[in-house]
Amino acid sequence: MTSLLDSVGQLAGVGPKREEALNHLGIFNINDLLSYFPTRYNDLEQKLPSVALDGEKVTFKGVVSSEPVLARFGFKKTRVNFRLLVEHDNVMVTFFNQPWIQGRINLGDEVAVYGTYEKARQGLSGIKLLPKNSEDELEAIYPSSKEIQQKTIKGLVEQALGKYQDLLDLNLIPDDIRSRYKILNRREIIFGMHVPKTPFESQQARRSASFEEFFLFQTRLQLIKTMDRSNHGRAINFDNERLKQFIQTLPYELTSAQKKVANEIVFDMRRPIHMNRLLQGDVGSGKTVVAALAMYAAITAGMQATMMAPTEILAQQHARSIGSLFNPDEVRVELLTGSTKAAQRRQILEDLMSGDVDILIGTHALIQPDVAFHQLGLAVIDEQHRFGVDQRGMLRDIGMNPDILAMTATPIPRTLAITAYGEMDVSIIDELPAGRKAIKTSWVRHNELDRAIDLIKAQLKDGAQAYVVTPLIEESEVLDVQNAEQVFADMQAAFAPDYEVALLHGRMNNQAKDSIMAAFKANEIQILVATTVIEVGVDVPNASVMLILDADRFGLAQLHQLRGRVGRGERQSYTILVSDPKTQYGIDRMEAMVATTDGFVLAQKDLELRGSGDVLGVRQSGLPAFQVGDPIHDMKMMEIAQQEAIELISEADWDKKPANEALAAYMSETMVQYRYFD
Ligand code: ADP
Ligand code: MG
Repeated sequence: MTSLLDSVGQLAGVGPKREEALNHLGIFNINDLLSYFPTRYNDLEQKLPSVALDGEKVTFKGVVSSEPVLARFGFKKTRVNFRLLVEHDNVMVTFFNQPWIQGRINLGDEVAVYGTYEKARQGLSGIKLLPKNSEDELEAIYPSSKEIQQKTIKGLVEQALGKYQDLLDLNLIPDDIRSRYKILNRREIIFGMHVPKTPFESQQARRSASFEEFFLFQTRLQLIKTMDRSNHGRAINFDNERLKQFIQTLPYELTSAQKKVANEIVFDMRRPIHMNRLLQGDVGSGKTVVAALAMYAAITAGMQATMMAPTEILAQQHARSIGSLFNPDEVRVELLTGSTKAAQRRQILEDLMSGDVDILIGTHALIQPDVAFHQLGLAVIDEQHRFGVDQRGMLRDIGMNPDILAMTATPIPRTLAITAYGEMDVSIIDELPAGRKAIKTSWVRHNELDRAIDLIKAQLKDGAQAYVVTPLIEESEVLDVQNAEQVFADMQAAFAPDYEVALLHGRMNNQAKDSIMAAFKANEIQILVATTVIEVGVDVPNASVMLILDADRFGLAQLHQLRGRVGRGERQSYTILVSDPKTQYGIDRMEAMVATTDGFVLAQKDLELRGSGDVLGVRQSGLPAFQVGDPIHDMKMMEIAQQEAIELISEADWDKKPANEALAAYMSETMVQYRYFD
């Protein structure tokens, strides 16, 4: 009796110890093993030195034309050298630390060597000696571990392919979808991934495997979404009249985009479902007041609301500004952070439990087992990309299951949003409050810093304030601080005593940070020198200059966030990037910042400049990890997978149709862990 769910322990050569090592790689049964795909292939196709590129991994086949020499050097290091005549070219082959190679080959032998080509010295740094009769082939390379080697995995996969090949016909993707996009069947994918005969075959298998992965992912998201939106939540029956009155008391008219999203949100809250909504809006678009409105809606329904921010400074700012929007006799707002004093904390928690506190604002400190609400209706998560992905999970773990409103300014392209936020509904504020003047961005070299200082002086004279952001030195907060202190001294030299200069950095205690932020807000400080602690959310509308030193050390998403700290009031604002980028990529990034203030355009540009890979802000926004597929490189494919999944799930009784049987069974088996709802 065999099944793909057989334990890998069934395979020859797998004892308890090896089984455990396989388990560590996530391989428990045969199916896991056969889905453990190679990350790449060594192309063993033979090449000639004349066409090999410098640094390329190649295979040369030729005749050994000098006696192999073994040399020892350093501490237990060895080197075997010999010449290989490949057609008309002599290549110097060197094998490091594989002394036995010397005994294997003799002058005049015909051999094939796989290695890294060094063009300058026409040398090959040998990796592997291949069998003499080796054919052109692709060799699968698996992610391995210390406990289990490459070739062990390879051997086990081959063994399993032989024993279980009759069981590989399970196709999860419905046939019509497969044929529409020329997706290989499961058997072809598995063979093509593990033992491709040609590069083309491996490409087709990888493409199909990616699609399969995306399609299963999207189907799952759509199922979660559908179930999450069915009757599991609680209706928040807010008082529309009181909401309207509240809007009348705001110090400004809401933009039409703010009204639109506020309507979407409260409409969702009133439905007997669990709202799971993302509010996306560029920096400065006014998300906070929308959140305040939604929280007030919950309060008029007799419930409580909470708002979580990623930093203490931000939590404080929210507590202040949101508090000021309400009549304290009607709405009690409290702040809870890591530095709230014990006695005060106890009091707040008591009043929270009794329902006396209406809105609790804070940092991570909110998510503690002893924080219990009387009746929590809505949880707002500000700058959600700063947190992990599963906030609802965190809240649920401590016994809360409110409606969720997550907010973010990370303007990720729509195509990526369907992956990162696939299970959420999205509301977008696509307009800035009226009267804002577009921020002017310029880029100067370090030797032009004087010009920047002159501009700041002119602004200060006009009553405005400025930020000076100091460089980010990777992996060393200590160096960051030293640097910040140096910049602080420079700025004092330039501006004191006419203006007050202060320094803010992550190593300062919270009290010191608060009092500096408060003084800056009150314009008692005109120039704030800071590390990126001010990156997110800080709101001081009178600040009109953002000077960023060594700007090329920051990612575009981060620069955009920093720039968003100015241009928040009526003043014409300026962002000055100071940097001497050394690469074209660095120059392109600076130019992109100057060219646009639209976060979405910038995010798209970022994507193009980086290509596939690590898009900052995307990683932060919790893009899930895929085994084969690359959601950034293959965005189009992800979009198609999503459309197909939506279409499939929207059919009545889709899971009862024979064509979808395998998929439906697979989904119901693997769904449990993704359940967000009760
Ligand atoms: P963000 O979306 O980046 O979090 P904020 O909510 O901090 O933006 O709002 C930025 C600034 O705009 C704040 O000073 C806020 O008071 C102000 N603001 C918000 N909405 C409006 C509006 N409709 N008209 C004028 N100013 C507004
Ligand atoms: Mg904000």
